[in-house]
Amino acid sequence: MIKTATFIKSAADKSGWIEDNMPEICFVGRSNVGKSTFINAITNQNKLAKTSSTPGKTRLLNFFEINKGEFRIVDAPGYGYAKVNINQKVAFGQMMDDYLTTRPNLVGVCMLVDMRHDPTNDDKEMYNFFKEVGLKVLIIGTKLDKLKKNDILKNEKKIKQIINFDEHDTFLKVSNTSKTNINLVYNLLVQLLNE
Ligand code: GDP
Repeated sequence: MIKTATFIKSAADKSGWIEDNMPEICFVGRSNVGKSTFINAITNQNKLAKTSSTPGKTRLLNFFEINKGEFRIVDAPGYGYAKVNINQKVAFGQMMDDYLTTRPNLVGVCMLVDMRHDPTNDDKEMYNFFKEVGLKVLIIGTKLDKLKKNDILKNEKKIKQIINFDEHDTFLKVSNTSKTNINLVYNLLVQLLNE
């Protein structure tokens, strides 16, 4: 389990990355998907990842150290927020591209999608990109508590179909608010580290 989680630093670009051999798992997802709440839930903290009141504003990678050196979680800015301008979009794309294609520490990605909705084009592009560069992905379907029983499997199937889900990846449905399946996340992260 995750016993300790510590914020280490934020980085706007490559010059801010940490130089060591600690493996990193990058957390990505559309603004408002519940990524901050999820990071706080799995680390058992209230304010580690800041649930931002102005989504799309933070353009930084945030580095968190898990279990005193076991691995790092790298929290990426939420994408797909309509109000960011084109320059912010380009800067975001550049930073993510740089990190995702050249970071030696990166071992896998944890991508969050909202279980209630069809994935957007941004979601599709992100996931396709991960597959093209050969990254393992753990997909987390959030807000499970908001779904009617009958829609759970139906929505999962539709999401997988839309993003062209690779069956070698793992898909886990969670609720951050009622904590459903949150206890399963650590082992799946460790699985990413060991693949
Ligand atoms: P982020 O932009 O991806 O970091 O999203 P936040 O973590 O700030 O969450 C966005 C909103 O969704 C907040 O109002 C959260 O309380 C809510 N939220 C996050 N996860 C869940 C969940 O599993 N279930 C429900 N019902 N709401 C959630």
